[in-house]
Order: sequence, then structure tokens, then C-alpha cells
Amino acid sequence: MANETVVIRCRNCGTRNRIPVVKLTKGPSCGRCKEPFPSISTPSRPIMVTDSTFTAEVIESLLPVLVDCWAAWCAPCTSMSPILDDLAQTYTGRLKIAKLNVDQNPMTSSRNNVSSLPTLLFIKDGKVVDTAVGALPKMEIERHLSYFLDR
Ligand SMILES: [Zn+2]
Repeated sequence: MANETVVIRCRNCGTRNRIPVVKLTKGPSCGRCKEPFPSISTPSRPIMVTDSTFTAEVIESLLPVLVDCWAAWCAPCTSMSPILDDLAQTYTGRLKIAKLNVDQNPMTSSRNNVSSLPTLLFIKDGKVVDTAVGALPKMEIERHLSYFLDR
């Protein structure tokens, strides 16, 4: 874990900075323009997001975000839950995992064309760069993550 890094794109000059995860909470700044990054929270558990917090928590997140779109009646969604808890711990500091209840947050769901459950949205710098539909084994999600986090 000590050598883990994450790529943070500077909102001021656009430079992609590779930053050691251990320095994230110590007020890092852009290597090129020296603009300090806002403090970056590094949750080790999935966070709940809603139509009203989606922009701040997901679109404007400096860390890459994996959004789990789920519903209470969806059994495959429930089976994914412990996997996402595990991943949130394993990838602390490199990835934020967010859960969106689609029944309670129809605006965000329809804006992202979520039509079957569960749907995973891989969002970096405000853009959906990958999606995965259906209940997936942990290994398969990690395969998506390895491409997603290395871009
Ligand atoms: Zn910069």
C-alpha cells in the first residue's frame, strides 16, 4: 500500500499529477502550476450519493469514482454489496465507491441511462469512461478497475 499512487488532474492547468496515496491528506499541490488541490477525502467504505449530492461527490471528485446503481428489490445488487465493501477498503485513496439508489434518485439514473440493475459507472474527471451491467464477480470488477485507474 505504501507505494500506491493515484492520478489527480489539476483543475487549474489540466496537468495530470501522479501522487502517492499517503500524501493525499497532506495538502498536495500541482507539480506544474503549484495550485494546491482541495483536501481529498479518502473513504474506506462506500458512500451514499443522491440526485442532490451527485455533482459534488461524483462529478467534481478529484479521485476516480465507481458508482453502484442499485435498488432495494434487486437481489443481484444485494449480492454485490460485500464485494464493493471489500473493494472500498482495498482501493482506499485511489478510488471512491458511491452507491446510488435508483428508485430514490431518478434524475441521476436517467441522465446516465441506467436501464438494468446493477449498473456500475466508472467516472473520472466528471465523465463516464466505462460501464458494467449485471452482477459481476470481484475479479471481473477488478479487471475493469485496472484499466480505469491506469488511464
Ligand atoms: Zn496545475
